[in-house]
Amino acid sequence: MVKNNNTRLDPWSVKEVKNYSLIMKEFGIDDIDTVAARIPSPNKYIRRKINFGHIDLGTVLDAVEKNEPYAVMSGIKPTGSFHLGSKITAEELIFFQQLSSKAVVFYCIADYEAYADNRMSFADSLEIAVENVADLLALGLNPERAFIYRQSDDKRLLDMAFTFTRDVTYNMMEAIYGDKSFGLYISALIQVADILLPQTKDFDGPKPTVVPVGVDQAPHIRLTRDIARKYQKEYGFLLPSAVFHKLIRSLKGTFKMSKREPMGILTLNDDPETAKKKILEAFTGGRDTVSLQRRLGGEPEKCTIYELLMYHFVDDDNAVKTRYEKCIAGENLCGDCKAYVADFVANYLRKHQKRRRSHIDTAREILKTNTIHHS
Ligand code: SF4
Repeated sequence: MVKNNNTRLDPWSVKEVKNYSLIMKEFGIDDIDTVAARIPSPNKYIRRKINFGHIDLGTVLDAVEKNEPYAVMSGIKPTGSFHLGSKITAEELIFFQQLSSKAVVFYCIADYEAYADNRMSFADSLEIAVENVADLLALGLNPERAFIYRQSDDKRLLDMAFTFTRDVTYNMMEAIYGDKSFGLYISALIQVADILLPQTKDFDGPKPTVVPVGVDQAPHIRLTRDIARKYQKEYGFLLPSAVFHKLIRSLKGTFKMSKREPMGILTLNDDPETAKKKILEAFTGGRDTVSLQRRLGGEPEKCTIYELLMYHFVDDDNAVKTRYEKCIAGENLCGDCKAYVADFVANYLRKHQKRRRSHIDTAREILKTNTIHHS
């Protein structure tokens, strides 16, 4: 297992990556710049290197250029509302879906993992999943070119995961993930099946697949590529590609986003007034006094308010640049800046939540329709 400056890169608990170069080296992740010029109209995540790295994205870009089919695969663990990290993944999926009319999205509701990791019952996670899927649709995913499903509804995944156990030993799993429960090991194997499902004959066989994920998920990508390599002869799998985004901080400036620190997490389900309050109390890169800030300028690199704009809410690069420049020049003060961002985000949430409400029935219907039980 890879250590991240004494912190294990554990997909179930890592919150912070101190040394991205080390992780890139360990997991064979290339700099996004190696393919950025081939990506048509790169989105803000790519332009700002929030998507900092990739593995084999070239195979998917080949498919885009040749107008050939490819899959875009990711998912969510249905344990709570869509937070800003889930929003990044969703917008990456939507971006790759919109790159070509030949792209099909696979979105998995990882309810087995929610059970193994969080003891979340399937009934409870279904209700959360409906909300999560409504968020995804409200953000702009085209359901006509998407297969959205719950793991526990699709026995094909269990069959595939069981097949893969032929070549998986405890030592192999321990080397990748550390000493974990078999529930987590099995949910990792089911995730391998999720990522390879688009390449099975039920979905027209092998094809390039890109998996947009946070860097904390790199161990799952490694396991999936190892297994895909072993089953290449039997199934014809192409090794899946991945694009990685950086981990995000809580509004308190730490990487410890947890339900125990509710004022640090912003979700798309937050009441807009509560969201405003959270933003007004957020950690900034401001100086101790107004006169110091006027003289030295603020420190946007340390500021969660700047991060909200740059990572999550503003598409216009010039607008972000102007705010950065005014901050370091001491022209902006944190109180005004926070009030502006709080209003901006509250308005965004109001509009998003209205859109989400209009998608709830469709979300429920999708999860009901894509229930495929095999006897
Ligand atoms: S002025 Fe704005 S961007 Fe600059 S440190 Fe203060 S809150 Fe952050």
